This record gives sequence, C-alpha cells and structure tokens, in this order.
Amino acid sequence: MSERMVVRFAPSPTGFLHLGSARTALFNWLAARRAGGLFLLRIEDTDRLRSEDRFLDEILGGLRWLGLDWDGEPIFQSRRFALYRERAEGLVASGKAYRDGEAILFRVEPGGTVAYEDMIHGRIEVATETVKDQVLIKSDGSPAYNFACVVDDVELGVTHILRGDDHISNTPKQILFYEALGLSRPRFGHMPLIMGADGAKLSKRHGGVSITEYKNEGFLPEALANYLILLGWTPPGGVEILTLDEAAGIFDIAQMNDVQARFDLQKLKWVNGEYIMKKPTADLVPLLRGRMARDGFDLAAVEDGYLARVVDLYKIRIKTLGEFGELADAFFKEDFAVDEEGRRKYLGSAESRARLAELAERLAAVDPFVREGLEAAAREMAAVQGLKAADLIHPARLAVSGKTKGAGLFEMMELLGKETVLRRLRGCAA
Ligand code: GLU
Repeated sequence: MSERMVVRFAPSPTGFLHLGSARTALFNWLAARRAGGLFLLRIEDTDRLRSEDRFLDEILGGLRWLGLDWDGEPIFQSRRFALYRERAEGLVASGKAYRDGEAILFRVEPGGTVAYEDMIHGRIEVATETVKDQVLIKSDGSPAYNFACVVDDVELGVTHILRGDDHISNTPKQILFYEALGLSRPRFGHMPLIMGADGAKLSKRHGGVSITEYKNEGFLPEALANYLILLGWTPPGGVEILTLDEAAGIFDIAQMNDVQARFDLQKLKWVNGEYIMKKPTADLVPLLRGRMARDGFDLAAVEDGYLARVVDLYKIRIKTLGEFGELADAFFKEDFAVDEEGRRKYLGSAESRARLAELAERLAAVDPFVREGLEAAAREMAAVQGLKAADLIHPARLAVSGKTKGAGLFEMMELLGKETVLRRLRGCAA
C-alpha cells in the first residue's frame, strides 16, 4: 500500500498573501484532496521582527476566502525553537555540524553531487562544490529557513513538497540535511513563477499582487481560484472553467506546467465574468450590496427584490462586481454618471432632443408600463417618422441611464418605472 500523501503550505507572515503564494497553496490543496491526503499549514514565523499578526490574519483569511481548508491546527515555527536547536546539536555531536560562536553551521563536503527527480522539472543535479557550509542556527538563536523547514517537514511526515521555483536553490541544501539525518527525503516539485504579460516578474503594475486587492476589486474567490489553477496546470480536454472540487477530482502533479505562467488580467476578468453569470442572483445580491455600500451607494431604501431584478439584467454584462455599480448606477441614484461622449453624440442636436420629447409623450400613454408595450410604442414612432429604431434607442438609453451600453432599453425602462423614465426623457429633451 502506498503511503498517505502529506503536503503543506508554509507561508512566512512577513507580507500579504500574494497571487504566487496563493497558487502554491491551491496546488498543494488540490494534490492532497486528490490523493485523500493531508494539507497542513505551517507558519514560518522565525523572523520575529518581520512577522506580524496582521499578515498572518490576512494570509489565513485569504486562504479561507479562496475556499481552501487545512487539516488540523496551523503549526508555528516560533514555538519550536527548542526542537531545531536539539536537532542541530545532534548534528554537532555526530560531527556533521560545528559551532561558530553562537551559531551552528552544517559542513558541506565538496566533491559530491546532489541529485533528485523534480516532480515538475525532471532530474536536477547540483555539485556540492557550489554549496557553502549552511547555517542551521543563527547567532541570535533562531533557526535558518532551510533547517527549520527540513526538521518540520520530517516531524510532520511531509511526503511531497510543492513550492515555487524561487526555492529551487534551497532544495539541494535541504536534501543534504536529510542525508545527514539519515532520513529518506520527500518528493520535491517546483512551480515556475508567475510573470506579468510583459515577461517581467509579477508586480503591482500588472494589476496587483495581493489576494486582497483582487477581492476588493470585485473578483469572486471561486473565479480567482479557477484562474490561478490555470497558471500552473492545463486541465485535460481544454477545459478552462472548473471549480476547485472538479479540479481536485482530476488533478495530477506530474502534468503541471514546467514553463513560466503569464498573468493575464483580461483572462482573469473573463473567468470572473463566467462565474458572475452563473452565480445565482440571490447569492450575488448580498455581495453587491456590500460592494456598493463601500463604493458610496446608499441602498438603505432599496429592496432585495429590486436589486435582484437589476442584477438579472446586468450579471451577464459585468466582469467584476465593481463594474455593476459603475454600469447600473442609474437604477440607484439620480446623479448617475453620464458618458459625455455619448451625450454629445446622441443628445447634441435639437432634433434628437425633440424626438425624446415626443417619445416621452408616446410612452406616457403606455399602460401597463412593461417592455413589450414600450417597445411597440417606440417602434411605431420610428415607423411613422421614418427613423431607424436605433435612432430612438441610443438617445433614450443615454437619457435614462447615462450610458451608451447596458441592458436592453425597454427592460431597463420597465424596471426604472414610468415616473423616472418620463422625468429623465423630458429632462434631456428640454
Ligand atoms: N516560507 C517559505 C516561503 O514562504 C516556505 C517555502 C517552502 O515551502 O519550503 O516561501
């Protein structure tokens, strides 16, 4: 019987949860769930000065938000200094490490080779000549990353280590520690880093690097998780939209991409739009209410039923939650944003304004004030005056919503209601 897979995500709480780290966490989670194994969380907070609770909270909150649950309680390295020292002393006793003042260093013998089969990159070999003696315990008593990492991976029974390429140079050093401790090593896999569309290391100017920024921007966690999966693995059959659970059912580490992934904000927006479109309106309503409140909308008097009807009209047209308030503000306030270019184009002439005045009079007679009747009245007017329907629809849409695009005009009008529609049409006609 094969051993049970144990993986871990090991963030340092010295900064926010970045897209790259979140992707690392995601793939470890997928591997564990696929194999029915364990996904552990280890907090690498050995740097007491740079580790902060607010970062830890943000990292844990970000993981939960993405839908990643971990097994058991998180392990904190800051509480395990005695264990690291004990293991280092053991290596001193066996002659494999030595003291240098307060510090303990591991002796690397030249002339050897460290080789391993990377789960993603294949065989990797490093000559020990290129590796200098390694600090195990620093003179301030804290453990060095590579050593604490190995001690804990051993203690926790970690079988597979999946992390970013930025750690590829650490792995030979860690393997030397496994050998010195007489322990069999786990399997290692290194994921190529995420690059910006221009090929440079992902940074703020590519659209933000922390998970919280994307959350605030109006991305759904399931969409961001889906997109991050695509940045490391190509699901079979060309499928691009798949949930975490669906991915967990078919994921295979061996199929992970060994070339750098390019972060593409447009693609992420597309994925997000797909999820918004499919999400039940009733689930979007509370999210959008919160989102709009933060954007300064006063929705106290807006009922969920009305909000839901507007969401139904717009959820196929927005790529982020933030776009909803921008595109549909006219449903919630009178001082809605007006597309100035559109205003010049569609409402610039006395002729088009006169048409709006007449349209308002015709619509005033429509009863009940529902889309079919409204559309019939507008088309009749167009026919009588020898106009194209578009000659009425574009100016009217701009008058009632301030926008040149959006939901169907007559659906919008029905929802806005007779009083508002006539007031806005007449306001623009004047
Ligand atoms: N704390 C390290 C990091 O955040 C962990 C690396 C590892 O997974 O071994 O990059």
